Amino acid sequence: MREPQAPLPGMNLNRVSRSTGLPRRVLAMAAVALLLIVALAAAVFQTAQRYRSDEKWTLHSYQVREQVLQLVNHLHLAEMEARSYGLTGREISFRQYGQAIRAVDDSTGQLATLVSDNPQQVAAVGQLRDAIAARREQFEAILNNYRLQGASAAHAEVVALVSQSTRPVDDVANRILAREADLLRTREAASARNGRTVALSAAVALGGSLALLLAAFFTVGLEQHRRRRSERALEQSTVDLQAALQEANRSSETLRRLSTLAELLQNCRDLDEAINVIERALPPLLSDVSGALALVNASRNIVEGRMHWGVRGSDLGGAIFAPDDCWALRRSQPHPGDGDHAAPICPHLTQAGVTADHTLCLPLNSQGQVLGVLSLCAAAVIATDTRRLAATAADQLALALANLQLQASLRTQSIRDPLTNLFNRRYLEASLPRELLRAERRKGGLSVLMFDLDHFKRYNDTQGHDAGDALLGAFGALLAQSCRGEDMPCRFGGEEFTLILTDADHAQARERAEAIRKATAELVVRYRAGTLPPATVSIGVATYPEHGATPEALLRMADQALYRAKQLGRNVVGSANDLARAAHTQPAQGGA
Ligand code: GH3
Ligand code: MG
Ligand code: MG
Repeated sequence: MREPQAPLPGMNLNRVSRSTGLPRRVLAMAAVALLLIVALAAAVFQTAQRYRSDEKWTLHSYQVREQVLQLVNHLHLAEMEARSYGLTGREISFRQYGQAIRAVDDSTGQLATLVSDNPQQVAAVGQLRDAIAARREQFEAILNNYRLQGASAAHAEVVALVSQSTRPVDDVANRILAREADLLRTREAASARNGRTVALSAAVALGGSLALLLAAFFTVGLEQHRRRRSERALEQSTVDLQAALQEANRSSETLRRLSTLAELLQNCRDLDEAINVIERALPPLLSDVSGALALVNASRNIVEGRMHWGVRGSDLGGAIFAPDDCWALRRSQPHPGDGDHAAPICPHLTQAGVTADHTLCLPLNSQGQVLGVLSLCAAAVIATDTRRLAATAADQLALALANLQLQASLRTQSIRDPLTNLFNRRYLEASLPRELLRAERRKGGLSVLMFDLDHFKRYNDTQGHDAGDALLGAFGALLAQSCRGEDMPCRFGGEEFTLILTDADHAQARERAEAIRKATAELVVRYRAGTLPPATVSIGVATYPEHGATPEALLRMADQALYRAKQLGRNVVGSANDLARAAHTQPAQGGA
């Protein structure tokens, strides 16, 4: 089951959710722009209709005007022909008068039809008809007079006609013309207004639409930019989170390895085991550098490489150097320190051929004692994380090594005799039963040799107690040298020693005892400026299984053999075999 996750760093949820509102807003803008365009189209259509209507009415006005002018012209023509007939009596004038009057009637009829929609003009046309009728009566009078009363009567009528003004007809005609002219002007003004309104509306609608479309494009672009930025931030956050997770995993893995290393080191029994553990655990922990672990020897005069890893590790780890050749050991602190770029490279590293690399030496300090040094080198600058990790590892190594040293020294103290460095009696008594069991399992022999320096009390008395100690130490060393690895030389107590020979039968044991006895007599012990007088040793030998099956029995038999050797005059090897014989021949003797 997954834990609920916190928002990633840098991730703006508001912005992400807001970006989902983008289409609605842009759609609203596009819809408004579309509405504006539709409204504009409607306005343009309406204006076009109005233009067409205005055009029709303008044409109509012009037709009215033309009709009026024609009518007036025909009337003038009729008048002229009537006057001509009245003066000349020519038939042609009479006919042409008739044609002109018919034309006047036609024009009047057409004019009446044209203005039928306009009551004012209808009234005016009525007035015009009346004025024309009045005028026409005068023309008819000329014609009738000419026909009925002759040229003079007609002439008088013509004179009367000329004296009469044509004004009533002209006035009415002019009024009709003026009204149509007014109508024309009004329509033109309305058309111009319409045109301006449409142009303005078009400008506003187109400008608005354009602005809205631009705003929509800008909004889309802006939102896309924001979205891309959010996505980039999200991607970056994901990358950062993955890196942080990897780092956390790496750290936890490192901690786990460090803790395993510490736990393994704590359970190591000796240094070799610890080095083995370090060889397996340290290289994977510090895999980006080469390195080596060197330990200071017991005499503290030599530092010796014990393990190494990485491409340059063999250079670092193969060296044996003096503690003074390492700045870290000299100063008891990491060298170089953090950010100390001017620090010199340790001499032990330059001697090993490491000159151009970045290096770091970490002293293994524990309780004020420097136990060794962890040296690292890399072609690049050693990262702070690696420095920190190496320092932690070095602390753990130091702690573990100090622990092992302490354990070893306690173990040595508990099982070794401090004067001779041989095993002590407690160790012998603890080990002998185990060795006997092994011998029993192997069906092999096991011999116990008991040594007692002859007249040692006297030796002490004559040479001094210190000289006696020197002899004890020299004899202990002789005994240790005379042993194989699996044998067990012990200081039993005072000037008495024991040697357990595993896998040795009685004859071999006696042989070895004889060799040691001889070597003791020849032992030269240096003491102060000179040498000590020679000493001798008596030895008793008993063997498993023939002389005893238990540790106590064997030790007792070896002791009795030693006693027998003392009895035989000292500087002698006594055998448990001889005890049995002696028991047969001298039943009264025996016992240690
Ligand atoms: P024997 O030949 O019969 O063994 O005679 P001995 O003098 O060796 O025997 P004894 O047991 O009487 O003397 C042992 C002496 O060893 C007594 C003691 O002072 C001395 N001795 C025991 N432990 C030490 C020691 O650690 N250092 C020294 N210098 N002398 C010791
Ligand atoms: Mg003794
Ligand atoms: Mg003695």
